[in-house]
Amino acid sequence: MLTFQFLIAWQNAAGNSLKVGVLALQGDFREHLASLEACGADASLVRTYEEISGVEALVIPGGESTTIYKLAKNFDLLELIREKIKGGMPTYGSCAGMILVADKILDPASGQETFGGIEMTVRRNAFGRQVDSFEVDLDIKGIEAPTVSAVFIRAPWVDSLSPRVEVLASVEIDGELHPVAVRQGSVLATSFHPEITSDNRIHKFFLEEIAKAI
Ligand code: GLN
Repeated sequence: MLTFQFLIAWQNAAGNSLKVGVLALQGDFREHLASLEACGADASLVRTYEEISGVEALVIPGGESTTIYKLAKNFDLLELIREKIKGGMPTYGSCAGMILVADKILDPASGQETFGGIEMTVRRNAFGRQVDSFEVDLDIKGIEAPTVSAVFIRAPWVDSLSPRVEVLASVEIDGELHPVAVRQGSVLATSFHPEITSDNRIHKFFLEEIAKAI
């Protein structure tokens, strides 16, 4: 049987392809870029004030949230990113990126701040040493079956959240459910790293359901 594949170019309201930036200060930004490109997005790595100003959606990678914060502060990018997220820029943060889009960190490193965007408090390295890194099959609201194989690496979880935050997936630890994928308006966050797997459905969900809405 013949199958036809269509490369979809995601478009903004003006009919141009939507410019998606991957914040490339530290972390696994190249993997995110590859996932976005595999979805047909017009994506690029961004690290300067001008580059970040020029994008319409932003992905914040996994890595080390304290380092990404420090670099953003030193390069005077903190307010720019905060304002863009506040202004409704579709944003997706994975792992360290989830920490950076949280309004609050429960146990910040000394002086550590975030960009904010989701009314939640996250706990860094929440799963503890014994389960430092692990993989689970997750049912994620908005993603059709089969389940997503989610990879957690020194991951945060959402400790508390406002009723305006939608929980898309949780992990059960010792009988307690901890949110690991959440969305508030145009901001999406996952504790895990879809960018290091070949499953691009989370990126596709971000591009299709969230970023296209601008
Ligand atoms: N523990 C890291 C932090 O606090 C996040 C780890 C990751 O992104 N894989 O930033």
